Amino acid sequence: MSPPEHTHRPVDAHDQALTHRYTVRFPEHAPREGDPHYAAFSAYRRHFLPGALCYVGQRAGASQCTDDRPLELHHATLEFAVVNAVSAEALHRDFPEISEHATAEEIAAWAESSPGQFRWLCQFHHRGHGGAHTASHADWTAQLYVPELIE
Ligand SMILES: [Zn+2]
Ligand SMILES: [Zn+2]
Repeated sequence: MSPPEHTHRPVDAHDQALTHRYTVRFPEHAPREGDPHYAAFSAYRRHFLPGALCYVGQRAGASQCTDDRPLELHHATLEFAVVNAVSAEALHRDFPEISEHATAEEIAAWAESSPGQFRWLCQFHHRGHGGAHTASHADWTAQLYVPELIE
């Protein structure tokens, strides 16, 4: 006996509005302008901005890129405001170049001056609703390969 027909019906393409709401517990941190590592970050940004391309746009998302504003430099792993509370042991697991006994200062220096820790993003893919700071990790990552996934 074959299973009921409805279990084999494909799901039609559909749009689904999503909202995420949660609290992030930021540790105490200096204002960004007072961060001694900000200079390294800024220097990297100034030097490499000409010719930079949006990380998402280089893959499947170029049709949605904000093209009338300068690209923005995103921290791929750790934002400045959270480095004071990082577990060095946890970081070491994925980034062995960081000691499991690294200080917050060493972690901040790594986060602000390692090219591998940066991603160039257009405004939409950085802070817009399709942005790394807005869309869920699953959706943001999937849009690298699925054109116009986030509208
Ligand atoms: Zn983009
Ligand atoms: Zn960012």
